[in-house]
Amino acid sequence: MSFKVRGIVLPEREERTFWIDGDRLRTDPGPDAGAAETVVDGGWLLPGLVDVHTHPGTEAVAVPFDDEVLRKQLLEHRDAGVLLIRTPGSAARIPGWVDEDATLPRVRSAGQWLATPGRFFPGYGRDITEAELVQAAVEESAASSGWCKIIGDWGFEDPPVPIYLLKAAIDAVHANGGKVAVHCQTADGSRNAVLAGADSLEHGMHLDPGLIDQMARQGTAFVPTMSVFAAHEKAAREREPSPRRDWWLTGWEALPANVRAAHEAGVTVLAGTDSWPCGTVATEVGQLISAGLPAEDAVAAASWRAREWLGLPALTDGAPADLVAYADDPTLDPAVLAHPTRIILKGRIVA
Ligand SMILES: [Zn+2]
Repeated sequence: MSFKVRGIVLPEREERTFWIDGDRLRTDPGPDAGAAETVVDGGWLLPGLVDVHTHPGTEAVAVPFDDEVLRKQLLEHRDAGVLLIRTPGSAARIPGWVDEDATLPRVRSAGQWLATPGRFFPGYGRDITEAELVQAAVEESAASSGWCKIIGDWGFEDPPVPIYLLKAAIDAVHANGGKVAVHCQTADGSRNAVLAGADSLEHGMHLDPGLIDQMARQGTAFVPTMSVFAAHEKAAREREPSPRRDWWLTGWEALPANVRAAHEAGVTVLAGTDSWPCGTVATEVGQLISAGLPAEDAVAAASWRAREWLGLPALTDGAPADLVAYADDPTLDPAVLAHPTRIILKGRIVA
């Protein structure tokens, strides 16, 4: 036994003591408990933070994927306490050395963005024809952590991926045991993503609120990436009025109410930043709170609920030793989230 941590565990709000055995948490100290060094003594303990929508590996849109940039950005996440990420689309498949490096956050990847003609930045994702979509979706999910990412729509006046095709791709990936994240930002694209049974709506701008109950029933998660939109709001308002600008602002203005309604209907709402620099998921938690999520649910969206959604347990006996400690309760003041007093990843002290 190397380390001992003690604190009030969220979401249970119980004081617990864990011993860290290799990369696992243990509630039973075993015979050599006395040898453990106490590294957290009081305060609040959360499962490692999670960003479910981040694209490490490039510093900006449409520049080539770079392994050193990937490492640097994963470390930015880690040093902010973000110990698990899902990367819904990349300019290249996430290389195998990431999983093998005990100093890097856990990554759930989705292969390359699947971009049919006219949708997405040319050459940045995997450019395919519509006829190739089903096969490519199966390939990317099989070559990654089980996810793939389909760019379901793009230009605000352009048609989305036809629903029959989107559904065929989602059904094929599901039949193969995988999951599908769908980029959608138009009313038609968001509708298609829900009706086709996507596992997650990424952005979900212009989502018809009438579809929220169906999302809840079928288990479609909602990743609204509010902070990246909020960062663009000022520039959008300063632009000359145009149909595109008005479309964007209308979608952004409707997003908070949809986020709140989705949460209240039982949809899993999760925190994703979709922006650089990496390691800013605390900002997205603040956005979810401003949309009307209770603070505890907003924190859960970037911690235990997101971990569970990605198949990892919270702070329990035998769980991976990924945790962040805080001096104060982050559900009372989410600004606390950005200031962990201790970060432990895969049983190792990071900070
Ligand atoms: Zn994105």
